[in-house]
Amino acid sequence: MVDENRVVRIFENLVKIYSPSYRERTLADYIKSYVEAMGFLTYEDETGLAIGSDTGNLIVTIPGNAGGSSILFASHMDTVEPARGVEPIIEDGIIKTGGQTILGADDKAGIAAMLELISVLAGKSISHGPIHLVFTVAEEVGLEGAKNLDLSDKHIDFAYVLDSNGKIGNIVVSAPYQDSFVVEYKGKAAHAGLAPETGINAIAAASNAISCMRLGRIDEETTANVGVIEGGRAGNIVPDKAKVIAEARSINLVKLEEQSDRMIDCFKKGAQEVGAEVSIQRYRPYEGYSATENDEVVRRAIDALDRLGIPHRLIKSGGGSDTNVFNAMGINAVNLGMGAEYVHTTEEYVPVAELKNLANLLVELVKA
Ligand SMILES: [Zn+2]
Repeated sequence: MVDENRVVRIFENLVKIYSPSYRERTLADYIKSYVEAMGFLTYEDETGLAIGSDTGNLIVTIPGNAGGSSILFASHMDTVEPARGVEPIIEDGIIKTGGQTILGADDKAGIAAMLELISVLAGKSISHGPIHLVFTVAEEVGLEGAKNLDLSDKHIDFAYVLDSNGKIGNIVVSAPYQDSFVVEYKGKAAHAGLAPETGINAIAAASNAISCMRLGRIDEETTANVGVIEGGRAGNIVPDKAKVIAEARSINLVKLEEQSDRMIDCFKKGAQEVGAEVSIQRYRPYEGYSATENDEVVRRAIDALDRLGIPHRLIKSGGGSDTNVFNAMGINAVNLGMGAEYVHTTEEYVPVAELKNLANLLVELVKA
């Protein structure tokens, strides 16, 4: 059964290992030796080479010892900074740091629970169907590990990503599609005092475009933002270049495409108004997903939580995670709360009780 002291010890070991995006080697080696010591095989894919990381995604496949669905769990190995020299402190049942670094519970709380599951499985006390454990690289820099993962030779019925902040019991049933834009305006430089009429102001083009668009919360499913604007060299030069980086997100693909099309119209109009040229790159960093209580992947999570006496909450996320990528591969996946709060800050913490709850949830989910 789940051992609280053991899962806390694993978690402490994990967070002390420095593992920023593209530098997950030491952490991956720790996970490999843990899994292998428990008698299971690990496989590392070629993603490291493809994305310039020193590590690939790790995959552990555990055959079932009974009938039952095939279940996948996933956590990412990389963390954001500052993460060098994490020293976990346990106080009143809360694990945190002294405030100099993040804790890295995002996503090492998920990894700790997966390794605890491995320990429980090694004890051979439960019957379960086939289990796949995936430890991805480079999640924080654009889901790069998951995007390079090839699961096409595996049969997977349900996938649970352990990477949502907040309590165990949170089930993220939907997350948005996103479009990103890199827009470059090209005008014509001129002396701003002597001959402004011979110039074409690229910043004015960008500013016309931005003032034409609706930004912020568009509706309850859709948001849009201009996040970067760059351009110009000096106050006395009509600027010939300006660059804008923007995005739009929606849980609803039709609404996303409408919003993105409107933004592109504005980007073009801004250029036309001053006679500048514009180049627009539009790309989709990830697809969205949406599930309901009636989907079995959600139903099973709710049932497992019920059996543990943990209340559940269905949540709509505003951000992307590896879950989006699994769904795009055609795998039924949701993202689960892994217990951490204030992730990506030096205030990050996770309660010991939540680490234990998460490990218990994984054990409950795999029981045949
Ligand atoms: Zn994360």
